[in-house]
Amino acid sequence: MEYADIIHRCFRCGYCKFTRDYRDFNCPTYRKFWFESYSPGGRMWLLRAWLNGEIPSSQRLAEIFYSCVTCGNCVEHCALEFRENLVNIFVAARKEMVEKGLVPPAVRDYLKGIQTHGNPFKEPRQDRDKWAEGLGIPSYSGQDYLLYAGCVASYDDRGKKIARAVASVLKEAGLSFGILGGDEASDGNEVRVLGEWDLFQMLAEDNIRKFKGLGVKKIIAISPHAYNAFRNDYPPLGGKCEVLHYTQALDQMIENGKLTFSSGKDARVTYHDPCYLGRHNGEFDAPRNILRAIPGVRLTEMDKIKKNALCCGGGGGNFFTDIIGGGEGAPARVRIREAAETGADTLAVACPKCAKMFEDAIKAEALEGTIKVKDIAEIVCEAGKG
Ligand code: SF4
Ligand code: SF4
Repeated sequence: MEYADIIHRCFRCGYCKFTRDYRDFNCPTYRKFWFESYSPGGRMWLLRAWLNGEIPSSQRLAEIFYSCVTCGNCVEHCALEFRENLVNIFVAARKEMVEKGLVPPAVRDYLKGIQTHGNPFKEPRQDRDKWAEGLGIPSYSGQDYLLYAGCVASYDDRGKKIARAVASVLKEAGLSFGILGGDEASDGNEVRVLGEWDLFQMLAEDNIRKFKGLGVKKIIAISPHAYNAFRNDYPPLGGKCEVLHYTQALDQMIENGKLTFSSGKDARVTYHDPCYLGRHNGEFDAPRNILRAIPGVRLTEMDKIKKNALCCGGGGGNFFTDIIGGGEGAPARVRIREAAETGADTLAVACPKCAKMFEDAIKAEALEGTIKVKDIAEIVCEAGKG
């Protein structure tokens, strides 16, 4: 296995499961299960034993690896130099499990959905543009930007509302952009982190061919997961485009005066950093800049933010496979309690997966009426412009 020669470097000190100041456990799976096997260091030791033939392959072992949400907290907080490879090591272990046919049923189901329908919802490909109905968004044909929605914003009801909000704001501000609609395909970020490298490569190469054929130079991604794939995993395969997350596009438009606000609703807002925008790609400011630019919005931060943010639990494929599972210790429920403790009436998010995870968590925690979830694009939509 790739990285097999560095796995022994973990000596299980356990720093990786904390926040920077060691005030709280921040590996979502360790927090949920309270077993060392579910901590980053525990996984490293299990992996070493598995590769050395000291423990057998088992469904339980696969579940321990597939419950990791690839949030990257361990990468930030591991004490040793090899830390930048921690998530890569866990993904490589999954790759090995895919090759050996050891993946849990929910992972197999997810991958089958992508293979047979092109999306994990198993919805018809031609319905992919339904989210845009009535908005008058043109198909991409050489405009400045391609707006890429992604599977969740295309098919999930909550995600569709976010896609409509993003597209409406971009249109209102006069940006030149188009969409692929029914021709859009999965970006493959979750396929890659679930360890199905061959399928990821096929998706990425098809997308790259399509982008090149259409002359796409700049992409705005609604999902931080797609943003991550386009920005980091497509270039080595020949797919080099300028890639922005939609919050970065809006932040730029505010800065150059193309998006201005005259009024906004009074709201006490706290912001959740999505792992694939924040920790994985270092973008912490753009979403906060947008919120601060809207009159009436008062930003109140949670204790754990930016590199210390707790994942919503939907990363690493878990939005679909839910191997990490529910209950009081589910990351989204822990996080929504943290958000409510700030006294905020709104949790602002910048990812369709986060939105759905937190809305479910609000119901499970009976916090309806205390706090609601809004995507930043939805908050921008509601504000008066000009
Ligand atoms: S901090 Fe690094 S070295 Fe220590 S247990 Fe975690 S992964 Fe291993
Ligand atoms: S990536 Fe996140 S969930 Fe996975 S081991 Fe590291 S801290 Fe835990």
